[in-house]
Amino acid sequence: MQSLNRQAIALISDHADPAAAVGGEEAGGQNVYVRHVGENLATLGWQVDMFTRKVHSDDADIVQHSPHCRTIRLRAGAESYIPRDKLFDHMPEFVQSFQAFQRTHGLNYPLIHTNYWLSAWVGLELQKTSAIQLLHTYHSLGAVKYQSVQNRPQSADTRLKVEREILEKANCVIATSPQEENTLRSQVSTHGKIEMIPCGTDTSNFRLMSKLDARRQLQLNLHEQIVLYVGRFDPRKGIETLVRACALLKEKGVNNLKLMIVGGSSPHMPDGEERNRIEKIVCELGLKSEVMFAGQIGHDVLPLYYTAADVCVIPSHYEPFGLVAIEAMACGTPVVASDVGGLKFTIIPEETGLLVPPQDINAFAHGIHRILFDELWARKMRKQASANVIQRFTWGGVAIQLSELYRHVLAQSIMHEQPRNLRKPDLKNVLNSSFSKKSF
Ligand code: UDP
Repeated sequence: MQSLNRQAIALISDHADPAAAVGGEEAGGQNVYVRHVGENLATLGWQVDMFTRKVHSDDADIVQHSPHCRTIRLRAGAESYIPRDKLFDHMPEFVQSFQAFQRTHGLNYPLIHTNYWLSAWVGLELQKTSAIQLLHTYHSLGAVKYQSVQNRPQSADTRLKVEREILEKANCVIATSPQEENTLRSQVSTHGKIEMIPCGTDTSNFRLMSKLDARRQLQLNLHEQIVLYVGRFDPRKGIETLVRACALLKEKGVNNLKLMIVGGSSPHMPDGEERNRIEKIVCELGLKSEVMFAGQIGHDVLPLYYTAADVCVIPSHYEPFGLVAIEAMACGTPVVASDVGGLKFTIIPEETGLLVPPQDINAFAHGIHRILFDELWARKMRKQASANVIQRFTWGGVAIQLSELYRHVLAQSIMHEQPRNLRKPDLKNVLNSSFSKKSF
């Protein structure tokens, strides 16, 4: 439903469909971010259209999430899975489909918030031909990613160039942690505006519940010590480190340990290959009866898994933000995580969890052991972890900050003289709210 009284804005998320189920190869934190940001912005008075690439021919072209928030799937390449590294070739078609959608529906978005570098390229193209205000969230940074991969994809140089260009040419980019902000400044560009606005979580869903009830509902043993991993199967996520840490714990005599691995995978896809690799390591280490692969679990049931666990482990080699950490903490589950990226920002060491060097099997084993065998401390952390998330990381709070930033950017665009033939945003709606006190 479109509304004349609302300012329409576009969120662009090329490969991460906000209407898709999360937990598999192409669906993770970015899908969750765009969907929740979109829905919460709509409750603040915006008309939010979220654009993504159509991947399956039987998917609906438009999914209405709430009266003023919808996902729109655009044609850009074949309606089938295309690996992210091969998507750049289809972005010109994405731009054309986006422009055609605007023309057909008589829309003209004055503000576009892009997500991931491929969408950034789309935004920069649109900026060349229309008077848009452009904002961007990276979700992942080539400059960091390519430090740890042996074979850089063909698109690597283009990606690095686009990631620099968006920082220098957008009205503002959003860093989701101070660590990301520092990386942007030191490794991407010293020019351009950056605002730090974190990611959030749905604290009405991810909340404190009874561990006993959760275990009963999931039919899990009440006496086992449950270590949980939630996330995609991707070598960068470091599941191997966690499996090896559990093997070490078993070797040291911890014999009632269960490692629960939550995350989707499909055969013949990269996540299926990673799952096979992990299963092979599990067998080699003689851990078959200690490890349970739960598959992809939706956000409706996931709080039970976090609650049932004694500790949630995030062994990523790098993590720009890491939604799983705040979801686990919101449920009161302490975390042991790699001391990298956004995890340094969300986790308070010794109070809500522990940070250890990435890929350090001994350090992970030691951290997990400390939490499993100090029940009093773990209980204390439970309350502190959930309070930390409620105070700092709700989607409602994130959307308020983004909304203020949008209004500020739109108001600034109105203040600056614009050519007569370019349509301006609806002044009444843009100004109809207090501006941020933040300085730009
Ligand atoms: N997730 C899920 N079901 C699964 C596995 C993961 O819903 O089976 C969700 C998880 O709850 C989180 C997101 O996928 O919201 C992962 O986000 P994160 O930022 O931790 O990692 P990313 O996927 O962005 O690398």
